[in-house]
Amino acid sequence: MSQFTDFALLPSLQATLREKSYVKPTEIQERAIPALLEGRSIVGVAETGSGKTLSYALPVLHLLRSLENSGDKVTENGRPRAAVLVPTRELGEQVTKVFKPFTHTTRVRVRSVLGGTTMEIAKRGVAGPFELLVATPGRLLQLIEQKLVTLNDVRFLVLDEADQMLDQGFLTDAIRLATFCPRNRQMALFSATVSAKVQELMNQLFEDAEVIRSKGSQRTVQTLQTQNRKVTDGKRAPLLEKVLSEPVSGGTLVFTNTREQCDKLFAEMKAKGCKCAIYRGEMDKNERRRNLRDFREGVLEYLISTDLGGRGLDVEHVSRVINYHLPKGMDNYLHRVGRTARAGRHGVVINFVTERDQDLIDRLDSVAPPAKKR
Ligand code: AMP
Repeated sequence: MSQFTDFALLPSLQATLREKSYVKPTEIQERAIPALLEGRSIVGVAETGSGKTLSYALPVLHLLRSLENSGDKVTENGRPRAAVLVPTRELGEQVTKVFKPFTHTTRVRVRSVLGGTTMEIAKRGVAGPFELLVATPGRLLQLIEQKLVTLNDVRFLVLDEADQMLDQGFLTDAIRLATFCPRNRQMALFSATVSAKVQELMNQLFEDAEVIRSKGSQRTVQTLQTQNRKVTDGKRAPLLEKVLSEPVSGGTLVFTNTREQCDKLFAEMKAKGCKCAIYRGEMDKNERRRNLRDFREGVLEYLISTDLGGRGLDVEHVSRVINYHLPKGMDNYLHRVGRTARAGRHGVVINFVTERDQDLIDRLDSVAPPAKKR
């Protein structure tokens, strides 16, 4: 199977796929969509950039629209038939954006209740009847406790970026939310890595699920070019200046390992007149959102981040990732570089390599397709 037209998806979904010029499913889509359309539950090991959102969005919308078409309509307030749980507000917005063009044509009503917004906004968000809910676990539990939402008609529950969700302590919330759904609901879990906590969740909720590992999930993609530049401590700034003078179209994500490094680098780049901002943990949420928006819209050329920014963010025009400080582990490395060369586009990752990083660089050989390495 190699085209979306091979899937038994409703004509309204096929039409939007054509309109968006999505012809070939990605690897995870090719395997997850048929399984989900057959009503099976799955665990997909795939990260942002692999096309994982559409791999569940299309089957979910197919199911919701089919129920409507058969005359079984949603009429009650706050009683969705499908729910997508996400770890952060940013991811929730990203997921909603992927759903959007498809919900227009299928006329499925999507609402989102995401942490980081006021309770008033959340309440307004779930007023009235709708079919699909995108939510962060904490906020959703509050709405359920206040009887503004019920999950007792949910036929399809998705846990997206489960590893990140569990990092944030949402394990018990996620399990509680799953138990609020009917027993025979279909489930899908997506995670970039299978950590011990993800495994625990899988053991509890996904006993019968089919595990689909995208072959690319532990590898970098073919369209990514890797450049390793040797550097010694104290000499990173002049190397960065040289790298930044090399022409590039699109935004650059610069990674550091700690908040302090992130702030220091920001001050240095700002002083040199770079259009840059920071995106890291423990900063004002509104400022972080604003910085991300400005970067997305191209107002900023550089976003300086820690591993918080390496996870999950879908910023289309990132053409270059600079590891100003390389991470210790391969997981974080793959998350970071996964921000560029997305969905078939070209991208470059530039690693600032000290002697201490050599071990990681040696291991990169096992994840980078040899032909594209430099
Ligand atoms: P995701 O991994 O779900 O975050 O998707 C990454 C990006 O790839 C999104 O902007 C999607 O709209 C896009 N995308 C997903 N599937 C395909 C496909 N089969 N062909 C082209 N682009 C896609």
